[in-house]
Amino acid sequence: MYQLKKCALCGVETELELSHIVPKMVMRTLKKTAIGNIRNSDNPNVPVQDSEKHHMLCGNCEDLFSEKETYFANNLFHPYQKKERIQFEYDSRLFYFLTSLSWRSLYLDLLDFSENDVVGIDAFEHLIACERDMREYLLNQRSDIGTIEHHIFFFEEIKEISGNTEMAGLRPHAIFHRGIQSYTFCYEEDRTYGTITNMMGIMLITLYSKGSHEQWDRTQIINGNGHIEAKDQHITSVVGNEFTNMLKTAQSASDSMSDKQKEKIVENLKAKAGQIKDYPIFQDWLSDRELDKK
Ligand SMILES: [Zn+2]
Repeated sequence: MYQLKKCALCGVETELELSHIVPKMVMRTLKKTAIGNIRNSDNPNVPVQDSEKHHMLCGNCEDLFSEKETYFANNLFHPYQKKERIQFEYDSRLFYFLTSLSWRSLYLDLLDFSENDVVGIDAFEHLIACERDMREYLLNQRSDIGTIEHHIFFFEEIKEISGNTEMAGLRPHAIFHRGIQSYTFCYEEDRTYGTITNMMGIMLITLYSKGSHEQWDRTQIINGNGHIEAKDQHITSVVGNEFTNMLKTAQSASDSMSDKQKEKIVENLKAKAGQIKDYPIFQDWLSDRELDKK
């Protein structure tokens, strides 16, 4: 857990609040709809209570973010998770929220990148500039974030995966719909840099730089009034590799789980046998089985 001394957004030196990277309500929803314990792929043997958080922002900046987060929760996240709607009208509050989320994740990843020399100098300098632009926008010091793009990709039920047979066996429905994760990636050859956040199948991808092969169709969120649908979205992108990586990480975590933990899971499922159909993961299991048969 990072313990910063100054607020990462406004720079004031004060007592900092524990800020979640991915909003708390995502974890709350995950827990409420889970059949068993929530596990983290870093350490699958210990059930977790909460998602990643750090002492990062002062109270004022937390307040600045929270109204936009509520807007996202009420207008997109919950209606989508409850399967009430797949079409969403939005205004500039969505763009602000997405910026605040990717900015938090990028800010912390940059601390890691600078300590550990993870990326090359071109990518690093570009990301530093993007972090600053987003911070200034979030503080209402500028009205745009330049060429940075936000995309939302809804992980809907997939019947077939073309060109990526590996993914089919990796239980993508169960993993993506029951997952929370956020991190920054860099494809330095293509010059495609971004932050990807999975909120139970709602994927936010913020692109700081976009290589020439990237194609994003019906996914972009604009800075203003717009419309997005969880339907007919298509991506041709290096981000596809990140989807596969997320699945593989989850797979190796479940492989590394101790026999005792595996036994506990089976016991829990047996105890709930009669009600399994009532949990959202049941449909994910069916979808994954269908996909794997193909
Ligand atoms: Zn602050």
